Amino acid sequence: MRECIVCCRCLDDVVSQGKPLNYCGVNPRFGEELDHEAIPPAKKKKKVMVVGSGPAGINAAVYAAMRGHTVDLYEQGPRLCGCVKMSSIFSPYHERYITYLTNLLKRHPEVHVHLKHKMDVNSIKAGHVDVVILAIGGDVRDLGVPGEDGKNVITSHMFLDMLNGDKPKVKGAFNNFMWWGATTFLKMYYTPSFARKATASMSWPISKNVAIIGGGLAGCEFGTLCMNTGRTTSIIDSHKKIGFDVGGSERFHMTTAFKKAPNVTTYPLTNVTEITSDGVKAVQSDKEGNNHKIFVPAKTVAVTLGLKRNDQLYEAIKDCAPEVYLIGDANEPHRIADATKAGYRVACSI
Ligand SMILES: Cc1cc2nc3c(=O)[nH]c(=O)nc-3n(C[C@H](O)[C@H](O)[C@H](O)COP(=O)(O)OP(=O)(O)OC[C@H]3O[C@@H](n4cnc5c(N)ncnc54)[C@H](O)[C@@H]3O)c2cc1C
Repeated sequence: MRECIVCCRCLDDVVSQGKPLNYCGVNPRFGEELDHEAIPPAKKKKKVMVVGSGPAGINAAVYAAMRGHTVDLYEQGPRLCGCVKMSSIFSPYHERYITYLTNLLKRHPEVHVHLKHKMDVNSIKAGHVDVVILAIGGDVRDLGVPGEDGKNVITSHMFLDMLNGDKPKVKGAFNNFMWWGATTFLKMYYTPSFARKATASMSWPISKNVAIIGGGLAGCEFGTLCMNTGRTTSIIDSHKKIGFDVGGSERFHMTTAFKKAPNVTTYPLTNVTEITSDGVKAVQSDKEGNNHKIFVPAKTVAVTLGLKRNDQLYEAIKDCAPEVYLIGDANEPHRIADATKAGYRVACSI
């Protein structure tokens, strides 16, 4: 049973964007079933290596195996499902997809899963495969201002590293000890609902006064978590609207909640110039286009600028196998539905 994760992509495409109904977070064959009713068997059976076990990698691996290819799936971390492990903290329905994808792999034991295998140029070359599919997720976008590596700064990739069993690089003895402890614990036990409870009750690493730099989907989701857990929350973005890339079906509800909440302040049209140990220095434009220097006090500064294309490994290995593909967020950072579809499409093309 494939349960809906309420990503609302279907609604957003059709109602907000006037696009055809072609994308679903959890069903990559949505729309495609009109092109081919059954999954076409491969004309030539190939040896396929899939790197990365997010929605793109798992769908690529399973559908390639269903077509008759021999598939090995490599994941650097101790558990499957990539960024969905983290988005499930904010959106509990996403946990359904973790359950589904994990069960899907159990039902397809012909996909050989290798956890705790970080693939690099040498290990990929050593595989001597016909096809390499890189589904390694997007790269972090740097803010590029003084103080962004400060002790009080957190990013989504620090949490992802931690969930993957790698202590993120941080400054300060206390910080290092705490991240090491959390990483060691999460290697043994992690569920998104556990993380949700921990972030609600603990004031480390997210203090009671948070400034979020980046008002896109990830920033708004994190802002909602901070708002609902009683934290003083500031959301800063250079765009005119906070929630600029949030789907139409969710945006109104999210931004109205921010406006009504006494503990949330939003700063649109605001460019950050520096992060200090006490907060964020920025320049805000008013409606007339005049700029004003402002200071947003905060104990924790979360940088949620979204991701960028991650093609370094692809560039290094693209000539190492007859077919090499870069898919999902690594190719173009987007959403779960895009990664799901990309995995399926590449599997059908080989
Ligand atoms: C905080 C946050 C909230 C989000 N919220 C939403 C949301 O509400 N709705 C939505 O639709 N989308 C959301 N997204 C985006 C969505 O999670 C991604 O678009 C999607 O997970 C991308 O899938 P992917 O398979 O391309 O990559 P990922 O999910 O990033 O998976 C990549 C995998 O590759 C592994 N990997 C990387 N390098 C190597 C290597 N060298 N060797 C082996 N393994 C490797 C990583 O460990 C990871 O498991 C959110 C993302 C974040 C970060």
